[in-house]
Amino acid sequence: MYDVYTFFMLDGKVAIVTGGANGIGASTVFLFHEHGAKVVIADIEDNLGQKIADKLGENVSYVHCDVTNEDDICNLIDTTVAKHGQLDIMYNNAGITGSGSPLGRILDTKKSDLERVISVNLVGSFLGAKHAARVMVPQRKGCILFTSSAATATAGISSHAYAASKCAIVGVAKGLAAELGQYGIRVNCVSPFAVLGTGMSAELSEADVSKAEFALSNHVSNLKGQILKAEDVARAALYLASDEANYISGLNLLLDGGYSVVNPNMMNFLSASMG
Ligand code: NAD
Repeated sequence: MYDVYTFFMLDGKVAIVTGGANGIGASTVFLFHEHGAKVVIADIEDNLGQKIADKLGENVSYVHCDVTNEDDICNLIDTTVAKHGQLDIMYNNAGITGSGSPLGRILDTKKSDLERVISVNLVGSFLGAKHAARVMVPQRKGCILFTSSAATATAGISSHAYAASKCAIVGVAKGLAAELGQYGIRVNCVSPFAVLGTGMSAELSEADVSKAEFALSNHVSNLKGQILKAEDVARAALYLASDEANYISGLNLLLDGGYSVVNPNMMNFLSASMG
C-alpha cells in the first residue's frame, strides 16, 4: 500500500510536453512536476513557456520548438537528453483548430487551412514521436503520448481538417504501439471533449466561456453537472505516463463523459413514447 500524500507518480522521470505553455499542456506541466518529473516545456509562446519554467524552478525548463520544424524537434530531444541523461515521456500535445468556423464546411475549407492544421497537429506529433523513439529505442523503455480529440469518436463536432488530423494521430499511435512494443515503449492517446478556457477558446470573453460551459453541461454533454477541465485531461495523461499504466499501449482514451456511446435522440424518443 502507498500513502497517497507521498506518492509521486513520475518520480525520477524526464518528460517533454509540447504545447506546454498554455491550456492542457500547461496543466500537464504543473501536474507532472508535482509528481516528481523533470519537465521540458516545448512551445512557440516563449514568454508564457519561460514564465512557467521560472515559476516551477530548476526541474522545469523551456525550449523554443515549432513542432512543424524537424530541426527544432531534434534540438528539443537532444537538449533534453543532454540536460537530464534520458527521456521517459514524450507528450505530443501541441495543436491548433485552424482558421475559419469551428465546423469548417468542406466547400469553405481552403487547401492551405487543411495543410496548416495537418502540419501542426499531425506532422508535429509524428516528428515528436519519431525523435523520441530515436532515444527511447536504445533505452528500451519509454512512453509516447498524444493529445487527439473526441472528434475521433463522434463526427460533426469539429472541422474536417481538425478531425482528419486527430483521427490520423490515433492511427499513428496504434502503429507505433505495434512497432515499439518490442522495445518496451508504450504509446497512447488522450482524446478530450470540449475544454473551454484554453488558448483554443481565446477569442471568447470570460462571460461567453461561462455561458458556453453552462450550455455544454446542461444541454450537450452526456455527463451532467460537470464540465471537462484542462486539469482532468492532465490527470489522464499523468496516469498513462506513469507506471500505474505499465501494460497499457495502443489506447485512445476518450474523455467525453460517455458522449460518444449514447444517442440522446433515441433516448428522448423512447422516453417520450413510453410516457
Ligand atoms: P491551447 O491553445 O491552450 O494550447 C496549445 C499550445 O500549443 C499553445 O501553447 C500553442 O502555443 C502551442 N502550439 C501551437 N502551435 C505550435 C507549434 N507549431 N509548435 C509548438 N507549439 C505550438 O489549446 P489546448 O486546448 O490546451 O490544446 C492542447 C491540445 O488539446 C491540442 O492538441 C488540441 O487539439 C487538443 N484538444 C483540445 C480540446 C479543447 O476543447 N480545448 C479538445 C480536444 C483536444
